[in-house]
Amino acid sequence: MIFMSNPNGIERNLLRPAGIEPLAVMTFLNGDWKTPMTTASRMSGLSLKILRQEARHCRACHLWKNATQTVFGEGPQNAQMMLVGEQPGDKEDLAGKPFVGPAGLMLDRALEEAGIDRRKVYVTNAVKHFKFVQRGKIRLHQKPNTAEIKACRQWYERELAAIKPALVVAMGATAAQCVFNKITPINKNRGRLIDLDDGIKALVTVHPSYLLRQPDADAKALEYARFVDDFRIAAAALRKSARAA
Ligand code: SF4
Repeated sequence: MIFMSNPNGIERNLLRPAGIEPLAVMTFLNGDWKTPMTTASRMSGLSLKILRQEARHCRACHLWKNATQTVFGEGPQNAQMMLVGEQPGDKEDLAGKPFVGPAGLMLDRALEEAGIDRRKVYVTNAVKHFKFVQRGKIRLHQKPNTAEIKACRQWYERELAAIKPALVVAMGATAAQCVFNKITPINKNRGRLIDLDDGIKALVTVHPSYLLRQPDADAKALEYARFVDDFRIAAAALRKSARAA
């Protein structure tokens, strides 16, 4: 269960799963509901299994209403690399798994080319419910707004604390906003390691769906090569981190 409290001490239960202890108390600060536990070290020790159960019942923003289910992250709890995308797409929403659609296939291919085993990577999204507009039978993807990204960041923080990876890769603008907790331009920050709290490094790259949207084969090949290069930087950072451990 998650409770919210305001400065007057009034608590609000956000989630209603039976028999699960509160994970956090959220406080109303500067116009937003926020968790006071903002660093990984202060939220360590939570298992991904418990987090996944809790997130199933999240009602912290309106996106749960139209989506099929919460799409939580997947991967080993001892992963050294955590990949963060934007939000589940149509296929992910139905499957309940992140990155199983066309963008996921692109990601798998790039990871393999960079020498990274996806089975050892934890993959998640900044926003855990599918945001879309219905157009006939088609559900058209909608970009999450800042309020939705902020509301959902609590789950990223908890995943980060549970996994304690050496490296977080933010794929796309929404993921970068989540990881750095502020709007972070991709091109200006791409391809270099950036320090987060607790000795964790971050790397910014594009979202794999950006590659799918390229207008022609040449542009697609160029952007794909840059994407793989970013993951080569990530792989080198992981090797360095493993040697230092
Ligand atoms: S999108 Fe995130 S914050 Fe909003 S209801 Fe879903 S899990 Fe909760």
